[in-house]
Amino acid sequence: MSLIKNSILNIKPYMAGKPIEETKRELGLKEVIKLASNENPLGASPKALQAIRKNVSGINRYPDSQGFYLKRKIAQYLKVQSSNVVLGNGSDEIIDIIIKTFVEEDENIITADTTFLEYEIISQVNNRKVITVPLRYFKYDLEGIKRKINKKTKLIFISNPNNPTGTYVTKFELEDFMVDLPRDLILVLDEAYDTFIDVDDFPKSLQYLSGQNKNIIVLKTFSKAYGLAGLRIGYAIASSDFASYMERVRQPFNVNLLAQVAATAALDDRDFLRKTRKVILQGRNYLYEALNKLGIAYVPSVANFILIDVGKDSVGLFRDMLKYGVIVRDMKQYGLKNFIRVTIGTRKENERFIKVLKKVL
Ligand SMILES: *Cc1c(COP(=O)(O)O)cnc(C)c1O
Repeated sequence: MSLIKNSILNIKPYMAGKPIEETKRELGLKEVIKLASNENPLGASPKALQAIRKNVSGINRYPDSQGFYLKRKIAQYLKVQSSNVVLGNGSDEIIDIIIKTFVEEDENIITADTTFLEYEIISQVNNRKVITVPLRYFKYDLEGIKRKINKKTKLIFISNPNNPTGTYVTKFELEDFMVDLPRDLILVLDEAYDTFIDVDDFPKSLQYLSGQNKNIIVLKTFSKAYGLAGLRIGYAIASSDFASYMERVRQPFNVNLLAQVAATAALDDRDFLRKTRKVILQGRNYLYEALNKLGIAYVPSVANFILIDVGKDSVGLFRDMLKYGVIVRDMKQYGLKNFIRVTIGTRKENERFIKVLKKVL
């Protein structure tokens, strides 16, 4: 008999993108680039770095448990109240807090089958049932999700845009979906990549919070556009009622001191955000053109990564690219055997990626 809980025994561990240092060490390489975790290729926001340097000697103290200044800054930035904001140790932690706050033992959670893996993994860790609905043409199938809703459904996770496909649910599709959604169900819209959106029909999700359907939680993160993945900080925007209960569930010091000051400063770094967006949008076009020229199929993306059909086993391709010092993400764990996901990098990184891809194909 195992001492481990049954719910834990069957969990497939999350496989993170391979770290640069590990790759250098294992393969004896000097020049390694990582395009595997949708990180910011320009580094971290300079204003955030400055704030960290200024506050680093204060780390003998516990961080502000309420995250007062950061919440206030986020509230100003998004035109909500501080009481609508819940801070987390990355939005990963917020996902956990949401499940713990809202989902009873016998209730279930619905998401897509090919989406951010943490929705399913964290649900399993909390011993909650997950129903996954296949994507349609690489997009969330909202009609399919609606058909799967039953009396025991409490939460729906939508990654918008969807990681790893880069597709998005439009304003029209989302509003159509929300019209007759059961009142006792919570919709989570994970907008980790909102900065990179360059389409007009992307939903303005915060508007829904003050509308009729208040059962909406929007997730945002500092890990991608602001370049703070290593600090671990994300947040939720929810009704102040929801937020107050989520506050009870989180650990009192879940967001560390340096993360709080860095994120507060980063929100003022409009310059860095603008630069980042420009590099990503230009990089996206460069990669599209290069892939088109090579006759390689991909899924058009509104995020800072592209899902690419490499037409053969992607684990092998991942390893081949690694030998040339380029780390990408094979999509085996996502059930897309012949696909890789590549994060858009700097111009130089993108060129190197294409060169190496050509070589190994
Ligand atoms: C990267 C990502 C996150 C961010 O996670 P953090 O824990 O904030 O680093 C959340 N959701 C999706 C869909 C992501 O791709």
